[in-house]
Amino acid sequence: MQISNSTQDNCPSWGKLIVLTGPSGVGKGTLVQVLRQRHPELYLSISATTRSPRPGEIQEQHYYFVSRNDFEKMIAGNNLLEWAEFAGNYYGTLRLPVEQKLAQSKTVLLEIELQGAKQISTSMPDALRIFILPPSFSALEQRLRNRATDSESAIVRRLQQAQIEIDAACEFDLQIINDDLETALHQLETAIFG
Ligand code: ADP
Ligand code: 5GP
Repeated sequence: MQISNSTQDNCPSWGKLIVLTGPSGVGKGTLVQVLRQRHPELYLSISATTRSPRPGEIQEQHYYFVSRNDFEKMIAGNNLLEWAEFAGNYYGTLRLPVEQKLAQSKTVLLEIELQGAKQISTSMPDALRIFILPPSFSALEQRLRNRATDSESAIVRRLQQAQIEIDAACEFDLQIINDDLETALHQLETAIFG
């Protein structure tokens, strides 16, 4: 029996999964914010974290802020697509909403650190993995300090981690340098929307 084209056309296609990684302070959040304003159809996964909210951060909008105990229950219940410990706190992607949006053919964006990105490479090899680089290490340090959201000890930890992350940039499908914001955004849009 021949399968008609119309039957094939009726099959819903799986959405695209985009993983955005890069050192803390490189500008991932800034890029994602503008991207979502310009492309409201993009679904940004809201992560769970045990980090305390920064001033202005809103529960369920920026993160699900949870206790370590609750986070460990999510790990045990296999509720996380990936998770990692970063600079003393847990961070993880909730499995269900991401799988639901992909099943609805939506483009899903994960903004996650290196260990999580590696887990996604294994579990979801079709994901497009993009690494955001700073123009220089000193520019990265300047951005972290200018942002003024982290303590000195947190900044030191994030910079130590940054070097490890930058060293792994070549493992990603694409590297984008966030020097001029608009140029980086244009490269991101081309990668995501073709
Ligand atoms: P991340 O989410 O990667 O930790 P943020 O988006 O919070 O980084 O950006 C860190 C700081 O760098 C913020 O103060 C932001 O305004 C600034 N920033 C982001 N992109 C650029 C850029 N292209 N040029 C200069 N400063 C930038
Ligand atoms: P911040 O504390 O600055 O919001 O985030 C610290 C780091 O954790 C950033 O590199 C951010 O991309 C990463 N991160 C945020 N959510 C997740 C997540 O769900 N999983 C993983 N693995 N990393 C995350």
